[in-house]
Amino acid sequence: MSHPSDSAAWKHFNTCHRNFAQDPHNVRLGLCTDGFAPFGTYGRNYSSWPIILTPYNLPPGMCMQKQYMFLTIVISGPNNSKRKLDVYLQPLVDELLDLWHNGYVIYDAHTSHQFHMHAALIWTIGDLPSYVMVSGWSTAGILGCPICMDDNPVFRLQYGKKVGYLGCHRQFLPRCHAFRRDVWSFIKGKVEKGTARGRLSGDLILQWVSRIPKVIDNPLSNSHNGYGESHKWTKKSILWDLSYWKDLLLQHNLDFPGQAGGREATRYLSDSEYRSTSLYILTKTPEAEPYFRFYCDWAKEHIGTSSTSIDHIIFEGYVDWFRDSTMNMNLDGVLPLLRAIASGMSYKVRTFKEYVINGWKFSTFDRSDGRASQRYGVAVQSNSNYGTSIEYFGVIEEILQVSYDLHYHMKVVLFRCR
Ligand SMILES: [Zn+2]
Repeated sequence: MSHPSDSAAWKHFNTCHRNFAQDPHNVRLGLCTDGFAPFGTYGRNYSSWPIILTPYNLPPGMCMQKQYMFLTIVISGPNNSKRKLDVYLQPLVDELLDLWHNGYVIYDAHTSHQFHMHAALIWTIGDLPSYVMVSGWSTAGILGCPICMDDNPVFRLQYGKKVGYLGCHRQFLPRCHAFRRDVWSFIKGKVEKGTARGRLSGDLILQWVSRIPKVIDNPLSNSHNGYGESHKWTKKSILWDLSYWKDLLLQHNLDFPGQAGGREATRYLSDSEYRSTSLYILTKTPEAEPYFRFYCDWAKEHIGTSSTSIDHIIFEGYVDWFRDSTMNMNLDGVLPLLRAIASGMSYKVRTFKEYVINGWKFSTFDRSDGRASQRYGVAVQSNSNYGTSIEYFGVIEEILQVSYDLHYHMKVVLFRCR
């Protein structure tokens, strides 16, 4: 799947609302929300909740890019808004209803015509806490699973009293799957022969939540008849006001971020790592290119008939030569960036299993292994000194963040690959 339009949910919506689907002007939107701490680590208990709409009528590379996201609401803290979210969402839902039923008159500059643009919210995206706030289904305790809902054969651990999901989801596996017969790794001695009921249809959920009051109708009560015994509804979400909400195959996408950045550690580079890292950064800095060309020319002249290769001379001598020549120059003659590099990096580096660079997330091989999204593959073009260019494909083994002793704010991120 390279674009949401490849998904079954998108196609299902097309079959339910053919008129809407026929006009490519019509816009489909996703609603994302996630709490964040505006004061960073120092104010962890203070959180804000932005509500962001993102249009999907864009090529895959442009969807979810910062410049195409619309920050529609910011709910200020200090606590997360929980059920109150629906109060803040009211004006947005009103506008979405207007966009769905009436549409807005828009000018199409390409055809020089006016047209009625309609829009639909096709799903929400968020982590588990956001899911609870938006959907109204609490995921805490027994009946917490958002798919199985009331058909949830979970149990509490005998001593810790924690809810155990061990084994109950084996019902989703194919009949012949080995895990169904595994009597050791899940619930001791239990072979799973059942079939999961699976996801309830939008119509059935609507029937169910229609018995639960909306927050706006009943702002104070969040415990409704049968809560925790037959259901976990804390409210009838305001999104059910959208007449097409029941037709969505996938109302909520769950985002499981895991640990941001993976587990971070520090280590020290070995001498040879230090040497090759310094050289790599230096040769990849465009501002230092004139120096590099000068050094290569000098090395070529010097090499004469000796058997040492230019690469060897560069590896052994360039970093030191660069440092000496930039440090000996008068201050105004050298760019501050080059001075920072010449001052030498620290042997101590930070290592990560995941890193986001220019909006792309990369992970190491061992972190990606077995996950649905594999982000460890990289390709680099290498220009040798002889003018040939070779493309290398690598697998990220380690993500290193290098800093500079004298310029600690300057950081360079490198991938160690195999
Ligand atoms: Zn489940």
